[in-house]
Amino acid sequence: MKVVIPGSIPQAAADLLMKEGFKLSILKDDSDYKELFREITDADAVISLISHKFNPYMIEKMLHCKIIANYGVGFNNIDVQFAREKGIIVTNTPDVLTDSTADLAIALMLGLARRITEAENFVIQGKFRGWRPQLFIGTELKNKTFGVIGAGRIGTAAGIRAHSFGMKIIYYSKKGNRHLEKVAKAKKVLLNSLLKKADFISIHVPLTSETFHLLNKEKLSLIRPDAVLINTARGEIVDEKALIELLKQKMISSAGFDVYENEPNLNPDLFKLDNVLLLPHIGSATREARTNMALLAAKNVAAVLKGKKPLTPV
Ligand code: NAP
Repeated sequence: MKVVIPGSIPQAAADLLMKEGFKLSILKDDSDYKELFREITDADAVISLISHKFNPYMIEKMLHCKIIANYGVGFNNIDVQFAREKGIIVTNTPDVLTDSTADLAIALMLGLARRITEAENFVIQGKFRGWRPQLFIGTELKNKTFGVIGAGRIGTAAGIRAHSFGMKIIYYSKKGNRHLEKVAKAKKVLLNSLLKKADFISIHVPLTSETFHLLNKEKLSLIRPDAVLINTARGEIVDEKALIELLKQKMISSAGFDVYENEPNLNPDLFKLDNVLLLPHIGSATREARTNMALLAAKNVAAVLKGKKPLTPV
């Protein structure tokens, strides 16, 4: 049976699948849709990247495919309903990237609170002339309020980390989260209340039809001018144009982006702002997370092709 895998994911996936006796087709260029398209038409399984859009047109061509194993926890790149109708199982990689992504949300918070990139640029530009009382005054985290939007796996991990800095935790989510309430003394609030109260707001909902522009212009306007917004979930959850306007007018203090509305084509206005921290979608980019994501995707493929249940179906 033929399994298509992207050439850029850790070798652990290929090793596991070869050991299981599958024939591998390793994509040379992950961004080459022609190559992807050619390889998937007779494949029994595919490990997909979150940058691969598996729309009905693509899925229609996958006549033998039994599983699309997404190399990522977010699966908004795949038309899951259509795949299901075609008898294709879709899996993702939850848990193994939770700590890495939560770490990055905290890194963005610290980076903005202490103006890390601004300060580093100052040093690199040769402007550092010694300690000064007013040099890069930032904000302390202790006693500030951290608002989690979407208290799932990553939102919970981020909330617990923020609690360890002495922050108060509030969260908005579909369900109550007993664990976060117990460990981080978190309080569940309505979205409007979170946006008005939080000093740092961190987004962790998945991208769905419900969460597209969850933070639209009206909601973003509720954020306080001294507050910071961090998005390590998906760009489309925020109306980016409206956010940029508010950042320009300093109606929101600053924002940390790991994800963007039109990735990889970024709004050029972002580069003109001095109150943003911009990262290239690296939430899960640690050796540990990426290796375990590769292994989990490969295990899902092996299970389904052997007629067993997938480990992490979506
Ligand atoms: P998760 O465990 O499913 O958590 C998502 C949470 O959001 C759940 O608690 C869910 O509630 C809640 N939610 C869903 N829709 C909602 C809505 N309309 N209103 C309020 N709450 C809602 O997912 P996760 O593992 O934490 O991952 C979260 C997202 O992070 C992923 O979907 C992915 O897009 C993103 N991500 C990004 C990176 C990166 O590289 N930057 C890395 C990993 C993940 P229910 O459980 O009740 O549905």
